[in-house]
Amino acid sequence: MHRLAGALAGLCLAAAATTAVVAAGPATAAPACSVAYRVNQWQTGYTADITLTNGATPLTSWTLAWHYGGNQTVTSAWNATVRQSGTAVTAESLPYNGTLPAGGSVSFGLQGTYSGTNAEPTDFTLNGVSCGDPAPPTSATPTTPITQPTTTTSGPPPAGCANAAICDDFEQQTGSTPGGRWTVGAANCTGTGTVAVDGTVAHSGSRSVKVAGGGGYCNHAFFGTSVSGSGVLYGRFWVRHTTPLPAGHVTFLAMRDSTDGRDLRAGGQNRALQWNRESDDATLPAQSPAGVAQSVPLPTGTWSCFEFQLDGAGGKLRTWLGSAEVPGLVVDGVPTPDIDQQWLARAWHPSVTDLRLGWESYGGDADTLWFDDVAVGTSRIGC
Ligand code: CA
Repeated sequence: MHRLAGALAGLCLAAAATTAVVAAGPATAAPACSVAYRVNQWQTGYTADITLTNGATPLTSWTLAWHYGGNQTVTSAWNATVRQSGTAVTAESLPYNGTLPAGGSVSFGLQGTYSGTNAEPTDFTLNGVSCGDPAPPTSATPTTPITQPTTTTSGPPPAGCANAAICDDFEQQTGSTPGGRWTVGAANCTGTGTVAVDGTVAHSGSRSVKVAGGGGYCNHAFFGTSVSGSGVLYGRFWVRHTTPLPAGHVTFLAMRDSTDGRDLRAGGQNRALQWNRESDDATLPAQSPAGVAQSVPLPTGTWSCFEFQLDGAGGKLRTWLGSAEVPGLVVDGVPTPDIDQQWLARAWHPSVTDLRLGWESYGGDADTLWFDDVAVGTSRIGC
């Protein structure tokens, strides 16, 4: 119970949302922009919902820039391509939300980590013009190119991966089917599911692996590689889903457990992330409302960093999404109602021999998803 109590206490410490509105400017002209930056933070992390309201100049693309005053580090974002270099952050529009008429608003969000204080930024610029300055005349040449990159990336290449046993950004893939260490396939039966190297969407560089998984078990598709099951195993990958996790049970990560000959699976059910043990269909968390509430949904249309720690000898499992540990996805050896009590109903000391990424639905749920920057090692790799 101690871990659950701690997790709940952590949630209760979340600060109330705060709002900073930057709209001051010369009284003689409309400001170039205003920004509402709404933070929801906990002890080590935060999310920010950011609404940008344009001034008098219609835009066909936008880049909002600011500086952080502390050590805030953006780990993921949605509805914008967010890049960070030191304290400087830029958020660039995507093809579908670049058009911003005079007075129009657009919202995007990000998640990050911090320590100490999490002061809100105040020096916003829109396409290089301070939000406090008058809007440039509408005939002005755009200050940023309108052309969009052919790839959708967010953030720098992953750090800390070089020492991992597996560290693959798929940039070396030259064919349409993942090769090298990767094998494409699916057990028992095949249908419409496909796996392909993709050059249009990437987390890093210009390549990722795209999985088009169909509804129904046999329309599953995976690409996988062998891993060493001894010792503590850490995994990290970036995944980009198109469709929200459904009510039905789905899998996007499977690992063969040699102790029972069945898969340890991560995916979703009841619209939240979960682990599932194929051998006895145990779920983590329990699929009670209280259990599901201890997990989280997966964002769509943006890259998410999924991390796990599997300690087979200790019979323990931890999970992070966007660098934040998910309280419902923890097996700590002490049975906790609604979380790992069912999981711990039998002895569990997994020894996994492979890692497969893809899509498998036990109902009729399809999804198209991308994977990039996959790493497996013996210490935490991070995002
Ligand atoms: Ca890549």
